[in-house]
Amino acid sequence: MSSDTVEKTRKYYEHLSQEDLCDCKECRNYRKKIKQAFPELSVYLSSLGVDIEKPFESWSVELEDHKILYPDVQYIVFGDEKDFKPCKISGSDIHIAQSHPMTLIDESHYVIEVSEICLDDRDA
Ligand SMILES: [Zn+2]
Repeated sequence: MSSDTVEKTRKYYEHLSQEDLCDCKECRNYRKKIKQAFPELSVYLSSLGVDIEKPFESWSVELEDHKILYPDVQYIVFGDEKDFKPCKISGSDIHIAQSHPMTLIDESHYVIEVSEICLDDRDA
């Protein structure tokens, strides 16, 4: 992972505005809770240049007891996927996504997937 591609990824996330992000209840809950609930994951993604609060795509399932399960949360990363090493952080697997929606990005990039995340949906 070169510092160039981390910088490129960081810029990409900086320029993503609220309008670019999904506004459904589950996604809003994710953005609100994720950093505090998974600080190590946040630091790790940040080392790739990724802003944990701005997923490219995510799926969610409502569970009992005010929990929302996010089986997969995907993030765009610039650079070559050969440089990416799958890992496990705070119980979540992070790996290259096998399938994802079209990114419409021309530059070299790939999509990683965090599996899985569970968050409370109540306001603290
Ligand atoms: Zn959503």
